[in-house]
Amino acid sequence: MNTAASDQFSSLPISSAQLSNLASLGYARMTPIQASSLPHVLRSTDLIAQAKTGSGKTAAFGIGLLEHINPRFFGVQAMVLCPTRELADQVGKELRRLAQAISNIKLVSLCGGKPFGPQKGSLEHGAHIVVGTPGRILDHLNRKTLELAGLKTLVLDEADRMLDMGFSEAMKEIVAHTPRNRQTLLFSATYPEEIKKISRAIQRNPVTVTVEAEHAPGVIEQLFYQVKKHERNNTLLALFEHYQPESTLVFCHTKRQCDEVAAFLDENRIQSLAIHGDLEQRERDQVLVRFANNSCPVLVATDVAARGLDIKSLQMVVNYELPRDPEIYVHRIGRTGRAGEKGIALSIFSEAEQARVNAIENYLNTPCICDVPASLDRAPGFSLKAPMVTIQVDAGRKQKIRPGDLLGALTGDAGLAGSQIGKIDIFDMCSFVALDPAALRQALNYLANGKVKGRNVRARRVR
Ligand code: ADP
Ligand code: MG
Repeated sequence: MNTAASDQFSSLPISSAQLSNLASLGYARMTPIQASSLPHVLRSTDLIAQAKTGSGKTAAFGIGLLEHINPRFFGVQAMVLCPTRELADQVGKELRRLAQAISNIKLVSLCGGKPFGPQKGSLEHGAHIVVGTPGRILDHLNRKTLELAGLKTLVLDEADRMLDMGFSEAMKEIVAHTPRNRQTLLFSATYPEEIKKISRAIQRNPVTVTVEAEHAPGVIEQLFYQVKKHERNNTLLALFEHYQPESTLVFCHTKRQCDEVAAFLDENRIQSLAIHGDLEQRERDQVLVRFANNSCPVLVATDVAARGLDIKSLQMVVNYELPRDPEIYVHRIGRTGRAGEKGIALSIFSEAEQARVNAIENYLNTPCICDVPASLDRAPGFSLKAPMVTIQVDAGRKQKIRPGDLLGALTGDAGLAGSQIGKIDIFDMCSFVALDPAALRQALNYLANGKVKGRNVRARRVR
């Protein structure tokens, strides 16, 4: 099924502008999913593509859809549906990078949690590409602020998650607003029956390409702990006390379980935050920022919420409960052991979940190694605290604030050392700065009186 003869971008029928832009992005060769998808995408064939997170799926459709856009026609020619705003933001960012060599390509992002008016205004100015979440896009279609008669390429990114999140009907309704002769590209990390179903409903003779998860064996150490139901929390704690990881993602099934587990860990001196679909966008942003900037060592998440995470390798992934679908298990543990580092994937399961262990064994074609909680060395009184704290400043992109402005103010007038300042994240209306806790008071004192880029700002610690 993989028909690509070469992994060189130059083997593709794409413009020299795109080629040189790819080189300037440092993309030396195609990733496997790009090499197997792009020839089809460029031929305008419908496609189902399956590959794991981080395999370069955005460019696998992005390079192709850009090639088909006519910048002189001011109408929406490509649209990408994503399950969450974070994912839509990531795709938007990557598409902008890919499009920067082609002049005058306009991309508009249409996600919920943002005011409707400015989106409508951007669309009126003419957009070539739309990236967004199904709910908001459907809103625009119903209010006739979005017109798709000129659409050439429709992409369903993370299609499996969109189905999990109940977007199936919305997706079909959106498709009904698009021309019949469109190209439909379906990208998914897993390939369950529902994906085949929606493909039959909206695609024409799709080609299927699959790139298997390619983890070097042994990079992720996997262990399974069978426990009685009431021992789950204590076992989780024992795992932290034994492994003492700097960064951990704990997977739970339900939103409520996420909250409960995070609260339990917190009470036991393991600093954690929960993330799930019930949080407001603002809260989600804060949680993701704090996890990524070293202000929170443990995140407790549902599968859906974890999808939006754009994080470096994690030391440890814990399944607080096992998923029913072994593919989801593989996907979860793929969050650790990236980039040649060693990762630990630990799973807690009860007797009732034995069938799930068996399913994973069958899927991986290797036996799962079980250990007993009693074998874990526990460090009494162990506590896990993040090395950094986060402050939020009420000025962002809209106020033309850049990371350098905050860094400059804090290391200049405020007198902090550069080494006391960590990651800086700029959002539309606010910014986040990671700080050494020892510098927190000094930074807040300065910001209460001093200025950033000539303006007074307000700042507070995010808790
Ligand atoms: P996925 O959607 O499969 O999770 P992304 O499209 O977000 O993956 O890509 C993951 C990362 O890999 C991004 O940072 C992207 O810029 C980078 N990337 C994509 N294609 C290439 C390539 N051919 N060479 C180098 N880096 C790439
Ligand atoms: Mg992606």
